[in-house]
Amino acid sequence: MNRISTDEALQLFDAPLPRLLWSAGKACDEKHPERVRTYVIDRNINYTNICVSGCKFCAFYREPGSETGYVLTTQEIHKKIREAVDLGATQILMQGGLHPDLDVTWFEKLFVSIKNRFDVQMHSLSAPEIVHIAKISGLDVRTTLIRLHNAGLDSLPGGGAEILVDNVRTHVSPKKCSASQWIDVMRTAASLGMRATATMVFGMGETLADRVSHIEAIRRLQDETNVFTAFIPWPFQPGNSELDRPSTGAHDYLRTLAVSRLFLDNIDNIQASWVTQGAEIAQIALSSGANDIGSTMIEENVVAAAGVSHKMDESQLIDLIRSAGYAAAQRTTLYNLIGQKKPRASRG
Ligand code: SF4
Repeated sequence: MNRISTDEALQLFDAPLPRLLWSAGKACDEKHPERVRTYVIDRNINYTNICVSGCKFCAFYREPGSETGYVLTTQEIHKKIREAVDLGATQILMQGGLHPDLDVTWFEKLFVSIKNRFDVQMHSLSAPEIVHIAKISGLDVRTTLIRLHNAGLDSLPGGGAEILVDNVRTHVSPKKCSASQWIDVMRTAASLGMRATATMVFGMGETLADRVSHIEAIRRLQDETNVFTAFIPWPFQPGNSELDRPSTGAHDYLRTLAVSRLFLDNIDNIQASWVTQGAEIAQIALSSGANDIGSTMIEENVVAAAGVSHKMDESQLIDLIRSAGYAAAQRTTLYNLIGQKKPRASRG
């Protein structure tokens, strides 16, 4: 199949929805003919909500000095990881605000202490956190990543990409790293042999052309580095944040997911977001371009702060996948399969 151009991607946003979803489902099946949909067991640990960035779309952060600001202790973090490991977690997604005082040494000590106790993949610290930690530690990004990687940071989540167009970033998150800094962190991670995911948060007032620019930047970087294991598009959650935008509907979500699958021919895995969309839409996503349902989210605070609260344990996630007509399989961060549960037998 010929590669889709940016103009064609833009046109796809106007295509009849059922046909678009069918095409994306077909593209997904060509990459994943085995009719298996995957999930990971992990825990999101938000080590601090104190943040100097003040993104307009964020309902989670507190300014330094706020009475409701917190930093978790090492013991609290260990306890959360212990609970997660006991539930079968293979991955810890540790992310937090851009704290003015937590420098590279704080994270090194924490990661070493975790790796000494637990056999988990530290899929942690988004690119803006890396840029921030480097800045307050007086280091460059490369040195910071090398130190963190040596201390136990395995791979990077794609958070903080939002839309990789500086006009949009200047409007919604003016103090966060620029698009080129985000890309530079991922490129540097790739050069160190680390893997990462890529995300897109849409529905923040950007144009469709901005969304296409974003996925084009991701496709270009993937051609160059092969750093990304997966792409995860999810819509902005307007509750409790400064950004006054209506909620993105399910059609826009499914359309954006489908265009992403068709455009990103060099990324194997596209993740559906049940946390923001709920189970029913996530099931449609599984036959419309997504081959992965993400994580059990033993703990989730960031989307919950925006007033969106969908909860599912492992058996519910398996049920969701199986009742959509697929076998369910637990996977690792790097998409290696751990175990498989067959699809539900159809009745009658
Ligand atoms: S999205 Fe992240 S960087 Fe932005 S305000 Fe929230 S916690 Fe801070």
